[in-house]
Amino acid sequence: TKVITDVICPFCGTLCDDVEVTVSDDGKKLLEVANACVIGTEKFLHSQSSDRVTKPRLRQEDGSWKEISYEEAADYTAKLLAKAKKPLMYGWSSTNCEAQSVGNEIAEIAKACCDNTAAVCHGTTLIAVQDIGLPSCTLGEVKNRADRVIFWGCNPAHAHPRHMSRYSIFPRGFFTGKGQMSRKLVVVDPRCTDTAKMADVHLQIEQGRDYELLDALRVALKGEWLPDVVAGIPAEKIREVADILKSGRFGIIFFGMGVTQSLSKNHNIDAAIALTKDLNEYTKYSIMPMRGHYNVTGSGEVFAWQFGFPYSVDLTRGFARYNPGDSSSIDLLLRGEVDAMFTIGSDPGAHFPISAVKQIAKVDSVCIDPHMTPTSGVSKLHVPVAFNGVETGGNCYRMDNVPIDCRKVVEPPEGMKTDLEFLTMVCDRLKKLKGVA
Ligand code: SF4
Repeated sequence: TKVITDVICPFCGTLCDDVEVTVSDDGKKLLEVANACVIGTEKFLHSQSSDRVTKPRLRQEDGSWKEISYEEAADYTAKLLAKAKKPLMYGWSSTNCEAQSVGNEIAEIAKACCDNTAAVCHGTTLIAVQDIGLPSCTLGEVKNRADRVIFWGCNPAHAHPRHMSRYSIFPRGFFTGKGQMSRKLVVVDPRCTDTAKMADVHLQIEQGRDYELLDALRVALKGEWLPDVVAGIPAEKIREVADILKSGRFGIIFFGMGVTQSLSKNHNIDAAIALTKDLNEYTKYSIMPMRGHYNVTGSGEVFAWQFGFPYSVDLTRGFARYNPGDSSSIDLLLRGEVDAMFTIGSDPGAHFPISAVKQIAKVDSVCIDPHMTPTSGVSKLHVPVAFNGVETGGNCYRMDNVPIDCRKVVEPPEGMKTDLEFLTMVCDRLKKLKGVA
């Protein structure tokens, strides 16, 4: 056996880069995974599961699957996209930037609507960043400098299990030599989560009242008048937290879907960024979204390079239009405008409202995913591919916008294509069908 070190975990936006993987001498079997958390480990081990689908499958009239070749699958996909008036190409967050780039080229030729999973998580953050900018930093700076850490509407103990041990709470950094003892942790969450249980202060906010509490903190920083209770939190407590935040040398606000998807949405993030700016009048503060899928940040970057917008891009008129709430996936599906569905690197079948999933089931559809998922279950064609970051490398972006190259550690099953290879096959065929050079 041999041990491969410094492997990147392709599961969550923390992109841990210290994983060690033991493989057989011929590189065909992945045997053990060290250093990754339990969900990251499972991602690596899934590549070895005995019930894995290794050939594309086309659904038959009676509902059964028929195995077909990758060439036939690429033909089917290219024809489907060429024929559709308004195809939706959704996902992208669990594949590498190289595949995303070819996918965007396909979207442009097919005049598709192209969207990533930000539409249902941090899309509101991206809108807020366009409104007022983002004073941010890297996770390395957090590790070395942050003595005040806020987790607002997120629960890294479960969703990003090594975030706290590698970057935000426990590690000893250059200016945070006592690790956890050097930092004060404030958690804002209506639930008493496992992260909240570790906090120095847990603000158990009333559900959906984030905007009020963010504004109240801004007022408390300035020492101005506050009502007795805001968002379920007594004024004294808000003043106490404002003093904790002000007294640090370097603070960071991490925020998650509890605040991006609650009442007020992007305006919550406007207020959180404004709070960060205000805090910079007293000391140094940064703010960072807790991105979920391991390369959702990369998808936003690649969209922005190629289309000028980070998600929910409508190319049906031959140029990029961006109008989240109108051009975003769920809205398009619920209005019944989509006549073909192409999914890659995500699972809308598990995360979209059931009425949107029913629309996916109605139209011609392709799902590109190494796993059998609720989306593959309602799609007409399922194309299994090699695991990105395990059976193929490629570039991806960590939640702090740092690009990192994933490593290939094991061979995929014989004959299996990667996302990039399959998308390139589709792109070549689509160009021929559309007469594009
Ligand atoms: Fe992988 Fe995220 Fe766990 Fe790190 S925290 S090992 S990136 S799942």
